[in-house]
Amino acid sequence: MNKDRFRPRHIGPTSDAAALEIEWADGHTSRFTPWELRLACPCAGCVDEMTGRRTLRPEDVESGVHPLEINYVGRYALSFQWSDGHSTGIYPFEFLRRLCSCPECSESTSDGS
Ligand SMILES: [Zn+2]
Ligand SMILES: [Zn+2]
Repeated sequence: MNKDRFRPRHIGPTSDAAALEIEWADGHTSRFTPWELRLACPCAGCVDEMTGRRTLRPEDVESGVHPLEINYVGRYALSFQWSDGHSTGIYPFEFLRRLCSCPECSESTSDGS
């Protein structure tokens, strides 16, 4: 398995600051809007731990939500301090890479290699 897929080389806002860009060690670049990242929050307050079902609904996330702070959690994850006051979500890099919805990533999820 290629570990570079889950290792970020650079993390930062896009040039227009509308989205967060992660450049991975394997050369791929993912872009996430703050809104989709906030909605994807994997913490126990947003996802039911027993069922894995998301309890946070899209209509619960305000459209202008943005990260006030982005912090590394060890070497494996990021955490966000959101403008709506939420900060308990830990986003492992593997999770973020899987969240990438670009055409390339949607295709490669089914190749099984
Ligand atoms: Zn959460
Ligand atoms: Zn992608």
